Amino acid sequence: MPTQTPVDAGTHQSRKYLLERVEDAAIVQVYADGFEKLPLQEKTLIWHLYRAALAGRDIFYDQRYAHNLELREVIEEILAHPDGVEAATLAEIRRYAKLFWINTGPYNNLTARKFVLKCTPAAFAAAAQAARAAGAVFPQKAGETLDAMLERLAPLFFDPTVDPIVTSKTPGPGTDILQASSNNLYVGVSMSDLESFTEEHPLNSRVVKRDGRIVEEVYRIDGLYGRQIAEIVRHLEAAIPYASAAMAKALEALVRFYRTGETSDRVTYDIAWVQDRHSPVDTINGFVEVYLDARGHKGAWEALVYYVNRDKTEGIRRLAEHAQWFEDRMPWDPKYRKTGVKGITANAIDVVIETGDSGPVTPVGINLPNDQRIRETYGSKSVSLSNVNEAYDRSTSPEFRREFAWTTAEADRAVKWSGFARELTTNMHEVIGHASGRVSERLNGPPQASLKEQYSALEEARADLVALYFLPDPKIVELGLVTAEDHAEVVQSEYEAYTRNALVQLRRVREGTQIEEDHMRNRQMIVGWLMANTKAIEVRTRDGKTYYTMTDPAAFRV
Ligand SMILES: [Zn+2]
Repeated sequence: MPTQTPVDAGTHQSRKYLLERVEDAAIVQVYADGFEKLPLQEKTLIWHLYRAALAGRDIFYDQRYAHNLELREVIEEILAHPDGVEAATLAEIRRYAKLFWINTGPYNNLTARKFVLKCTPAAFAAAAQAARAAGAVFPQKAGETLDAMLERLAPLFFDPTVDPIVTSKTPGPGTDILQASSNNLYVGVSMSDLESFTEEHPLNSRVVKRDGRIVEEVYRIDGLYGRQIAEIVRHLEAAIPYASAAMAKALEALVRFYRTGETSDRVTYDIAWVQDRHSPVDTINGFVEVYLDARGHKGAWEALVYYVNRDKTEGIRRLAEHAQWFEDRMPWDPKYRKTGVKGITANAIDVVIETGDSGPVTPVGINLPNDQRIRETYGSKSVSLSNVNEAYDRSTSPEFRREFAWTTAEADRAVKWSGFARELTTNMHEVIGHASGRVSERLNGPPQASLKEQYSALEEARADLVALYFLPDPKIVELGLVTAEDHAEVVQSEYEAYTRNALVQLRRVREGTQIEEDHMRNRQMIVGWLMANTKAIEVRTRDGKTYYTMTDPAAFRV
């Protein structure tokens, strides 16, 4: 599971972090400082894995929206042949294109809602014609004129009510979550169709209703996305000679899974990946997170390539080494605690590339594999994305923190501690949060089968709550993660930031009144519960502005 951090951006450092803003998105530079010093073998390994990460990028485009690749081609052809395109239209196409690239298609990554081109269809058609005169080639179907193509695509570019939401977990009573979602993970299928259908490839197939029959189109080398998968496999195979023995074993298992698409091969790969604990370079490459699927089963394709940041790894390792101590004290019924916590491997890492579901909108921490049974038996690996955390922190403006804090003392605490406290809490979220606990024996299957569209938000809440609960524990000082002197202030700063963020994150929901993103849903739930049931948080107003103020850390921890 990835953790995403909602922070805003500004700049306050000599080297440049904030490059550009596009509406609610900030484009921030991430630096891979240690790369130069890596041995040539590791650099070469990273190069091949990097190529494998690029090779699968369009899979996620297609998963997110069936028309994505066609839309992207049209706008990129215009941008690549701008001579003769009217200036205001060109500026609008550029704005749209940047948002399209950031969000992998025309849906905001947090609100799940569609954004549209704001020029007129006539101006857009004139731009396309000018681009064609300058050499652009458009993805017209056989016998289709440029005008006919533009007319066919016009509702997709311009009408926010056509395919309005990419993933709709709360479409309202009587509406089907799959049919209300515009992603490409299911075609013509509703939840009730699936009641009597058992998928053989729950993570890596598209489910399609064809002539009244339901079929699974499996993502594998001779199946759906075969062309892209063949390229991924070619680069992974080129990487293997440069990998450590444990990593080579995992990469071979991954190649096999890409060839067969079989769940048993995916399990073999997950186990090999989690057992590769010491390689200085690692990759995540495959159908991994399930947030795109309203039902929480289908894996969105993603890839990351990274190397261990040795300086920062010390602290997160100490957490992992003491995972059993935390597990024994989880604030829930002992029968849901794990007795023999299996190796949690935790590293602070620097990413070199993130594609598909993990980029350009990036997580700050990841704990995998998601398969609960493998986590319980073989453990998990957690990474904290150091260079991403650094870029977040260095690009956040102090004014932004001041605006939402009730007192100057609170704002000062935020400036002083929020980067540090967030990284610590993220590490705890991943290492002792997601990795914790065991499911009831009565459950008879993975928790997402029972929790369905609520699964992802509840899983995130569980991980957040574990982190927030243990943050004030003296064990954190004993492990050397924070000094005794600073501990109370760090806790207060984190609780305040967590509370403020329930309000601050709402700025990202520019349209609509439903939150769809699971990390955001989780935070609203926790802060809302604390407001309703404790005295930890007060809602205050001053000069017409509303503040969420954390007033009692002890009550917050209840
Ligand atoms: Zn998480």
